[in-house]
Amino acid sequence: MRARRSRERKTAFTGRTILKRLTRDKFCYAMSADNAPHLHVAPGETFCLETEDCYTGTIRSPQDRFPEEMREDRANPATGPVFVDGAAVGDVLCVEIEKIETRDYGIMFLESGTGALSELVEGSEVRFLPIRDGELVISETLSVPIDPMIGVLGVAPAGEPILNTTPGEHGGNMDCKEIAAGSSVYLPVAVDGALLAVGDLHAVMGDGEVCICGAEVSGEVFLRTRILRNCPLPTPCVETPEHLLLLGSAETLDECERMVLDKAHGFLTEQLALSANEAACIMSLLGELRVCQVVDPLKTMKFMLPKSALAALDTGSRLGEILGK
Ligand code: CA
Ligand code: ZN
Repeated sequence: MRARRSRERKTAFTGRTILKRLTRDKFCYAMSADNAPHLHVAPGETFCLETEDCYTGTIRSPQDRFPEEMREDRANPATGPVFVDGAAVGDVLCVEIEKIETRDYGIMFLESGTGALSELVEGSEVRFLPIRDGELVISETLSVPIDPMIGVLGVAPAGEPILNTTPGEHGGNMDCKEIAAGSSVYLPVAVDGALLAVGDLHAVMGDGEVCICGAEVSGEVFLRTRILRNCPLPTPCVETPEHLLLLGSAETLDECERMVLDKAHGFLTEQLALSANEAACIMSLLGELRVCQVVDPLKTMKFMLPKSALAALDTGSRLGEILGK
């Protein structure tokens, strides 16, 4: 079913374009081909998605707890879906993140028995961490600059719906801290329009997200899309100003490692025409194999390649074409 098309409006007085915006009550808990789109956007146009925090606003005081019955299938609300005009099955959708704004406090919900610190966390606790002057106040003596990132960014899969707690080839809950302003995320389009949805913002998160949460915040993200036809880039892929990251999610870190190394090696040999051993050397010298998260409950790893090195190795000038630039 097609939702009513929301059109770009111009103000009568200035002729300035009003940004398309989706409010945070238009969300889904799973990426699904059956979700009716709440917004239509054209490639290249900037739009704003307001997002709820990963607890859907159920935690309002330190006494509150994230309800047990919501944890399985009603966590990580993602605003959307957004139908990208012209995105067709087999394309790659590039989502450019222009800006992320967050509310002025983060929430952490810790509970014994959850996350990778399961046995080490005592009891059950909610912490409110103020954000003041661009810094997250962690304790009386420790504040750190916020570094807002998107935990959940995905498109609808072709088959069964995938809960927003889960990462995968469609994106989803990758919790990769490089998915931040100035970065682009490349995802495979599996249904027409792609059906993009975004949520689970963190003001600060460390690689691993070991106690199962970052500084969870609601906020607003400003995005723009591009559609790439016949794009051989392995997905999901994140491009930062400095790096290209190939991501893989699986039940174990061993499997994740295998996935991202194979993707990186395949990319270097097949797309940049390096020999098998040249690619291996580059990966071993300059690649960074890192963990995104270990708690979702699938785990996610990233293999980071410096773009400056890729540009120097790109003798056939393929890279710009592959990334659609
Ligand atoms: Ca997450
Ligand atoms: Zn989160």
